[in-house]
Amino acid sequence: MIYKTFKDLKLSMLGMGNMRLPTEGENGPIDVGKAREIIEYAYEHGINYFDTAYRYHNGQSELVVGEALSKYPRSSWYLASKMPGHMMNYIDGKLGFQGYLSGEPVSSPSAIFEEQLRKCGVDYFDFYLLHNVSESSYDIYTNEELGIVDYLLEEKKAGRIRHLGFSAHGRADTIERFLNWRDCFEFVQIQLNYLDWDLQEARLSYELLQKRGIPVIVMEPCRGGRLTHFQPEIEARVKSERPGRSLASLAFDFVKSLSGVQVVLSGMTTLDQLKDNLQTFESREPLADTDKALISEIVSSLVSLVPCTACRYCCEECPQGLDIPKLISLYNEINFEKTPGLQFILNGMTPDQLPESCIGCGSCSKICPQGIDVPMIMKKLAASISTLS
Ligand code: SF4
Ligand code: SF4
Repeated sequence: MIYKTFKDLKLSMLGMGNMRLPTEGENGPIDVGKAREIIEYAYEHGINYFDTAYRYHNGQSELVVGEALSKYPRSSWYLASKMPGHMMNYIDGKLGFQGYLSGEPVSSPSAIFEEQLRKCGVDYFDFYLLHNVSESSYDIYTNEELGIVDYLLEEKKAGRIRHLGFSAHGRADTIERFLNWRDCFEFVQIQLNYLDWDLQEARLSYELLQKRGIPVIVMEPCRGGRLTHFQPEIEARVKSERPGRSLASLAFDFVKSLSGVQVVLSGMTTLDQLKDNLQTFESREPLADTDKALISEIVSSLVSLVPCTACRYCCEECPQGLDIPKLISLYNEINFEKTPGLQFILNGMTPDQLPESCIGCGSCSKICPQGIDVPMIMKKLAASISTLS
């Protein structure tokens, strides 16, 4: 197992995500026996970072992970959980849940935190995160009256949180805004894989965190399994270039090769996946040129990206003040897959920031070094957004 230093700790570079534990039937409760077997095998083979969250597996994940780890010395494993602020609203001084948690009782962030400690059977979290800081949840997390971050900083002072960070599915500029708001976060968890490197601005987020010296915890290294199966001819190419290696291992080799990555989380459902991943994390080498070529081939086969380099020359010309590279990135993403994360981003945008504001003047295209037909992209993006619920 590769270990990397985080302050005075040595964290396994492969971390166990606990949002895809084996279940009894599809979407059923966790199959506790099988889940325990996977967690124990992970621990006994060198994994020491375990990530869960308030609502993973309808709230059962924290219970199962805490119980499975309790047989090992507390100082030998590191547990991360998350405050579900992304599912909260705060109206007239009253805290409530929204979305799929709508109607569930919630009294305060402290009540949630106490419940999490109880469920996990621990008296402190090694790592604690604000769950999914995004364009939509930004206002909740920065609400001074509600004071989620101030409360968590108090818990940190009291030793019940050892390290505070946040996870983010939002854009790089939202991550930057949040980091500028409070300079207290020691690590950030982002969705990072070779497909989202350009498709979802993962490169920008990673470079921003690198510049600030903030370690990155990777989530979705295989994009929820999307990078573990391809068209037959591409699969055959990958297998012949990397004999004896799984398709998933290429995705892991990509994130492993990035120096700012601290831990790579994988939500493993079976022992076979775990064993394969353990093998991938036995050693760390730079990504081979042949692997880089394979990755470009795979990305091109999955999605045809508008080749915006985010140079922002066009932004200075736009009379509507549109953030054109951000909108093109949204366009690329919508064309690939309409994920729930897109809605978070759109909810956080005002009407004058949306592509409908484009007046088709063409000043952007005249200056674009990539020759991108921006007005046409804006039109198509506006049409796609109108089809989202
Ligand atoms: S065409 Fe649209 S995006 Fe381009 S400069 Fe004009 S208003 Fe801005
Ligand atoms: S000028 Fe072209 S490449 Fe540069 S940000 Fe604008 S659209 Fe993208």
